[in-house]
Amino acid sequence: MATDSWVNETLYAEWGQRFLVGRELARVKSDFQDIMVFESPSHGRVMLLDGVVQITERDEFVYQEMLTHVPLLAHGEAKRVLIIGAGDGGVLKRVLQHRNVEKAVMVEIDGEVIRLAKEHMPMIAGDAWNDPRAEVIVGDGIDYVRTAPAGSFDVVIVDSTDPIGVGEVLFTEEFYHNAARLLSERGLIVNQCGVPFMQAEELRDTNKRRAKSFSDTWAYVAAVPTYVGGFMTLGWAAKDATLRSHDAATIKARAEKAGILGQTRYWTPEIHVGAFNLPPYIAENL
Ligand code: SAM
Repeated sequence: MATDSWVNETLYAEWGQRFLVGRELARVKSDFQDIMVFESPSHGRVMLLDGVVQITERDEFVYQEMLTHVPLLAHGEAKRVLIIGAGDGGVLKRVLQHRNVEKAVMVEIDGEVIRLAKEHMPMIAGDAWNDPRAEVIVGDGIDYVRTAPAGSFDVVIVDSTDPIGVGEVLFTEEFYHNAARLLSERGLIVNQCGVPFMQAEELRDTNKRRAKSFSDTWAYVAAVPTYVGGFMTLGWAAKDATLRSHDAATIKARAEKAGILGQTRYWTPEIHVGAFNLPPYIAENL
């Protein structure tokens, strides 16, 4: 009798989730990480990098919507967006849903992630790869921000792995110093900043580093089922503190104008506003 095969997430040595593997679709050791894509009965297609859940077909909409729509609608007039990481194309797709976006540059270090996402998880990005406003660069985000011209972007979205291995440079003071330089005067940057119930230091330490280059730093939350441990935090750093204090009516009007109202399954104007109200166990790290 065929035994069930399970894959255990390796993010935490002492705790974790496991997925029943219906069918393994790809297992590739790239120059940067071990990439696995498989079909799971519970979550659809799943991508792991070095044994850590990156994206599942079933719940990716939660953080892709929150990582994208919150900064773009908080800014209100974002035309040029820089995406770092996000090799699955999910953030790129949602950035391009915004009518007022004229240019979306995506810098992903591992071309194999893009290739495997296109092949095995095409539903994530849809046809965003072919959008004339999109420019996809295979490269290190730290190098890109070092040389990008000052004031060349309105929003930066960092959808990276955790600060281990290749992702580590994206959580440094140097990275945020260059992000501040390449952002326009009302610019802001958000990042995937871990699950504070288990990774509080990721939020605490990165917040200290961002604060050296940005006058307003905070975080907002999203409940992503497969980022185990409760709320996931999205790190926030802006040059204008008013960007995170709009009311739901303002955000709703902007979403209507941008063409995304009614197109989402997690984000709403009320969730947008509420996400910045942090439980004390999270706020104490800021
Ligand atoms: N949403 C996921 C999460 O919250 O963990 C991340 C998804 S996305 C697949 C993460 C991407 O960041 C990976 O494809 C990885 O290759 C990319 N990445 C890591 N370090 C990078 C760097 N220094 N420059 C550009 N991309 C990087």
